[in-house]
Amino acid sequence: MLLKSTMLLKTHRALAPFYGTSSAFQNAKQLSTYAEIARQRRSLQGRVAVLTASTDGIGFAMAQRLALDGAHVVISSRTQENVDAALDKLKSQGFSASGIVCHAGVKEDRDKLIAKAVDEFGGFDILVSNVAVNPGGGGRLMTCNEDVWDKIFSINLKSSFFLAKEALPYMEKKGKASIIFTSSIVGFVPNYAVEFLGAYAISKAALLALSKLMAMELGPKGIRVNCIAPGLIETRFGAAAVKDERAQKIIKGLCPLERTGTSEEMAGLASFLASDDSSYITGANIVAAGGLHSSL
Ligand code: NAP
Repeated sequence: MLLKSTMLLKTHRALAPFYGTSSAFQNAKQLSTYAEIARQRRSLQGRVAVLTASTDGIGFAMAQRLALDGAHVVISSRTQENVDAALDKLKSQGFSASGIVCHAGVKEDRDKLIAKAVDEFGGFDILVSNVAVNPGGGGRLMTCNEDVWDKIFSINLKSSFFLAKEALPYMEKKGKASIIFTSSIVGFVPNYAVEFLGAYAISKAALLALSKLMAMELGPKGIRVNCIAPGLIETRFGAAAVKDERAQKIIKGLCPLERTGTSEEMAGLASFLASDDSSYITGANIVAAGGLHSSL
């Protein structure tokens, strides 16, 4: 604190010759104070983030960005090999990170993920539930059998709800916290997905309702709940759709930006939703899909 005030004072003094008069000096002082406040609101310094499905694609980019903005990140996915590789990468980039295997659909694994953050830091402030599956590459809704339906809803919806519920005692202790779900543009407009993402699209629509209702119940505890709905993003998961000519037709014909998105473009939004810059935003389902039409 003292160091920060001294630095601010030095900045004011350094700026004084440029501003001359004492009122201009006051302006400069105010400006640098505002800049400091803005920096603090944007920063995730001292925060701890727990993320599922975060060793690749959008989840990994989110972990990287949260860490870049100052948070310690606890990453996870189903395989030790992928956790190790992602951790190596984050640490080699100088970030503060730890990780553990967590199949998001397995309660014991979710408990271990939460326990890791609690053991290391006593709790956490940011939870990103990013996991989803689409077994066999999906297909039309009416081809979906009961096993596939159960798998999709168990991983994409049920695991997100229970992870947040299980995390609650450790997040509410913090006084303010942020939960972020990853839905999809097809949660808003299932028609985009009619050929290949049938039941998956329904699970993603349910996540939109989950974040709204959870936000209602957790708001009084100081916990914000928001949801990101990406468009078509170039990842391992998105690769098949990116190559599909029906998806390309949608991108070229209906997407104002006429392109697919990147994981980093989703990660910036996650960092904003985790930070105090979004402190008055909760229950929002934010579409990041290059302008694709998106109302339910
Ligand atoms: P991705 O590149 O394929 O990455 C998937 C990540 O999830 C990997 O780290 C994978 O690691 C992990 N994972 C898969 N199943 C898991 C499970 N059951 N439990 C824990 N971790 C698991 O996928 P992505 O494209 O980044 O997708 C991330 C999220 O964005 C998903 O919710 C997806 O629905 C959503 N999304 C993607 C797009 C798109 O176009 N890519 C569009 C809209 C929404 P392991 O293999 O080691 O488990």
